[in-house]
Amino acid sequence: MVISTKTRLYGILGDPIEHSLSPTIQNAAFRGAGIDAIYLAFRVDKGRLQDALTGVRSLGILGVNVTIPYKVDVIQYIDHLDTEAEAMGAVNTIKNDAGKLTGYNTDGLGAVEALRGACGGLAHARVALMGSGGAARAIAFSLARERAKITVLNRSLEKAQTMALQISEKLGIKIECLALNSENLERTIPEVDVLINATSIGMAPKSRETPVKKEMIHPRLVVFDIVYSPLETRLLKEARAAGANAVDGLEMLVHQGAAAFEIWTGRKAPIEVMRNAALERLKEGYA
Ligand code: NAP
Repeated sequence: MVISTKTRLYGILGDPIEHSLSPTIQNAAFRGAGIDAIYLAFRVDKGRLQDALTGVRSLGILGVNVTIPYKVDVIQYIDHLDTEAEAMGAVNTIKNDAGKLTGYNTDGLGAVEALRGACGGLAHARVALMGSGGAARAIAFSLARERAKITVLNRSLEKAQTMALQISEKLGIKIECLALNSENLERTIPEVDVLINATSIGMAPKSRETPVKKEMIHPRLVVFDIVYSPLETRLLKEARAAGANAVDGLEMLVHQGAAAFEIWTGRKAPIEVMRNAALERLKEGYA
């Protein structure tokens, strides 16, 4: 591909950003769709987020993804929120229309698409969701909209309760909240069909860690770990060994990326191309 004055720029803002697979999948998507654009990773220092968004506007960057730790903070610096992102209270995708920035959230949709493959319908599925950060909020909202029965477990119980209250106000769905500890996990896991890790526990470089003791995993479970670095987390390895159905974070990543691509370009995302590019990169020894 020749980069010229016509080449458009997209990117991702976060810190750390080195682990991100988004440049791989989005650049593959642009090439696959024959769009003259490139996608770069920008590490944004704490305290420089507003400056970064001024840069997006002034340089005419057409769209950015937002990742750890800025998905919530970024809301104060953009012009509009679509209804989903507003309800979720977190943004992972921004579209720049001639300097006006609109925030979207495609994480929940990505997670639901990833789970649909393993569970079929999610209505009335009993789900234990670990985490209440940016990704967990989006997942909880999307699962609640699918009418799943959700228990959230988080290290900071108060954060989980605030999230549950906001979702229940928007969707009228009650969500149970518990502190993330062994006792509550032991009580909850036998009662659920789906266990989701939406914390960063197990993410490289701390890939020896796991949020759940292997003895707690039962073969009727679908275990979905949204961490994708490494792709085969300790939780997923132990889930497979216990006979559970293991779903990795790549499917969510590909589907949330495809939804972002469609918001930016108005074109159908080449999902297979995106998935293959990510798998290729992972085979090369990434993470
Ligand atoms: P975040 O907003 O920083 O939230 C982190 C969550 O992890 C919080 O619930 C936090 O609990 C919990 N946590 C962190 N360290 C913990 C520990 N030692 N013990 C217990 N809980 C801990 O991050 P995020 O954006 O939601 O991302 C979370 C993970 O998902 C990351 O690994 C990210 O790469 C991955 N992710 C994957 C995809 C995908 O497409 N597959 C998309 C988005 C994110 P507290 O609330 O108590 O702090």
